Amino acid sequence: MRMPDPDDRVFRNRDALLARLRKAVPGGVIAEEDARRPYETDGLTAYRQLPLVVVLPSSTAEVAETLRICRGMGVKVVPRGAGTGLSGGALPLADGVLLGLSKLNRILDIDYDNRTVTVQPGVTNLGITHAVQHRGFYYAPDPSSQIACTIGGNVAENSGGVHCLKYGVTTNNVLGVEFVTMEGEVVRLGGKHLDPEGYDLLGVLNGSEGLLGVVTEVTVRILQKPETARAVLLGFPSVEAGGAAVAAVIAAGIIPGGMEMMDRPALNAAEDFVGAGYPRDAESLLIVELDGPAAEVDHLIERVEAIARENGAFYSRVSRSEEERAAFWSGRKNAFPAVGRIAADYMCMDGTIPRRALPQVLRRMTEMQAEFGLRVANVFHAGDGNLHPLILFDANRPGELERAEAFGAAILKLCVEVGGVLTGEHGVGVEKRDLMTVQFAEADLEQQQRLKCAFDPDGLLNPGKVFPLLHRCAELGRLHVPRGQLPFPDLPRF
Ligand SMILES: Cc1cc2nc3c(=O)[nH]c(=O)nc-3n(C[C@H](O)[C@H](O)[C@H](O)COP(=O)(O)OP(=O)(O)OC[C@H]3O[C@@H](n4cnc5c(N)ncnc54)[C@H](O)[C@@H]3O)c2cc1C
Repeated sequence: MRMPDPDDRVFRNRDALLARLRKAVPGGVIAEEDARRPYETDGLTAYRQLPLVVVLPSSTAEVAETLRICRGMGVKVVPRGAGTGLSGGALPLADGVLLGLSKLNRILDIDYDNRTVTVQPGVTNLGITHAVQHRGFYYAPDPSSQIACTIGGNVAENSGGVHCLKYGVTTNNVLGVEFVTMEGEVVRLGGKHLDPEGYDLLGVLNGSEGLLGVVTEVTVRILQKPETARAVLLGFPSVEAGGAAVAAVIAAGIIPGGMEMMDRPALNAAEDFVGAGYPRDAESLLIVELDGPAAEVDHLIERVEAIARENGAFYSRVSRSEEERAAFWSGRKNAFPAVGRIAADYMCMDGTIPRRALPQVLRRMTEMQAEFGLRVANVFHAGDGNLHPLILFDANRPGELERAEAFGAAILKLCVEVGGVLTGEHGVGVEKRDLMTVQFAEADLEQQQRLKCAFDPDGLLNPGKVFPLLHRCAELGRLHVPRGQLPFPDLPRF
């Protein structure tokens, strides 16, 4: 993985940098190699890099001072939450500071009148629900990693989850953020009210993968727990039939609380792991959850079952208790570690397609398994058309990692071909960086980089991620004048 060339000047100035950081963040600077080692990778473990130094601030002021020091000394910074990201967004740089936000883990405000919770970025996703569930509330976006991943990481990746089909992904549930620019300026966007003033910069921050600013506070919307939630398991004779049923349910005007699909390898792995009660002989399994008033839920379950039968479902089982509903979901929520037990290694892809293309793409993926000589297990947010093919391989067998990477790239290209996008929720990071040109023209990428330049003119915040080639801001027409000295003053400017 090619990363920006390390800057020798930074290595030479390491001692001076450490001294200034230790003063700014007392007790929060990790310089010893052994102690830096746990930060060398994130959820995309194929890539590793020891950071120059790790800084763990305890307040927004310490974040701001760290960024000011780094900018002044020309040092790159990589923000990190819990490090569960699957696209390598928190992969450190050899000449960069790894800025861990885990100590910023306090819940600052719970406001039931406005139905909001304000937290520091290191609070876990599930921690928000835990703080309000005794009053019958919850935070809707629920990545499968919610027990560990942080809300700061969720904002940076615009994370999704099982319940996002009905309730929206992170960006639809965040009302306000505080973030710190690379210059050390603290900026607030939005608040407890709907619809922030001015341009939708909040929308820009969501999904910005740590390239625009460091998020230090987040205000989210909380929802009241639905009166009833029931899940139904539906087994199909083929993945195409399951895919067609997904499109048919949505076309019928039903928006389930969650609609997830697993193919035979994935559902059997999950069944072996947690014994969720899945039909082992199904080629694809849909888990559909309906929530709301009890009468509405009963009616919708009947309609979903009927649509599934019309599309060839041969198995149907409705949850009769909360325990059973939780058991149905436990297989899905544990599907990734379950698949980890049936293969030496797996690579989790993340592309999104229009729902109507599901049968076509799933069929093509079956053919591609033979072409690449590798197996795939499919576990995904079917209702959103967000695919997570898990490519199974063994990195110890020569050439298999490269074949898995080529297979993954072919799947993502297929997603774009059918009108979809390269990522649904895991972000671009380093994993899909070099595929950005499949989806975007040069002009599109340059426009996106102009936005980055507006926030981070020196390109010091998380460089090497998202953009295949990071232009210098001056090349893109935004002139940065360092210390008042205009570069190339003789050149005519327009
Ligand atoms: C088993 C498993 C299941 C998963 N399931 C899902 C799923 O269902 N849905 C889903 O969307 N994702 C899923 N993920 C991916 C991952 O959990 C999410 O992307 C999550 O939001 C990352 O949060 P984190 O705190 O671990 O962030 P990290 O991995 O630490 O960082 C992710 C990115 O965010 C940036 N970042 C982190 N904190 C900040 C901050 N405070 N300010 C600015 N930038 C920041 C980093 O620079 C990096 O680019 C899964 C991961 C695993 C391992």
